[in-house]
Amino acid sequence: MAKYTGPSCRQCRREGVKLFLKSDRCYTDKCAIDRRTYAPGQHGQGRKKVSEYGLQLREKQKARRIYGVLEGQFRKYYKEATRRKGVTGEILLQLLETRLDNIIYRLGFAGSRREARQLVRHGHFLVNGKKVDIPSYQVVPGSTIEVAEKSKGSEKFKEIKEAAATKGSKEWIEVDSDNLSGRVVRVPSREEIDIPVAEQMIVELYSR
Ligand code: SF4
Repeated sequence: MAKYTGPSCRQCRREGVKLFLKSDRCYTDKCAIDRRTYAPGQHGQGRKKVSEYGLQLREKQKARRIYGVLEGQFRKYYKEATRRKGVTGEILLQLLETRLDNIIYRLGFAGSRREARQLVRHGHFLVNGKKVDIPSYQVVPGSTIEVAEKSKGSEKFKEIKEAAATKGSKEWIEVDSDNLSGRVVRVPSREEIDIPVAEQMIVELYSR
């Protein structure tokens, strides 16, 4: 499957905000955006005036980059969101939030969504008792997610267990770090999705 393989920090600098694409590094003073606040490239420090279209495009790119989704797939999420009842922008974010790789990240079983994707692809997780190795798998409320038995004893997951213990449950997601498992209680509301994106602008972009 195609994926973006360029430098993660460059994407944050392009969007002008921390997208938390790497794990621990994002929380240290090594974060590239803290050191160089301007956009990357030859004209990075010169770009100032942005059209409405440009602003909408940036919001869409920001969301795509945060969740690590390519354009074609992102557009499919948008189409699905328009088909469902409710506020399209909010539904779009809810669809992205309930991807399996994002849920793994939210549970604290990976330091970044990128790492979560890799762990899912390597078959380390079970959803409702069955192995799922598709990062885009949509997790529905009531589902349980757990680390596969054979993976639990690995050094990697011993470290993850400690990290997950510090994350704790949220109202919409429960974490049992001792057993390396979790449960999606319900779909999160917009207020519970802490990503710096103006989703309405994405809707306006695709409605053009
Ligand atoms: Fe973005 Fe993390 Fe790189 Fe900082 S360290 S620029 S938040 S990916």
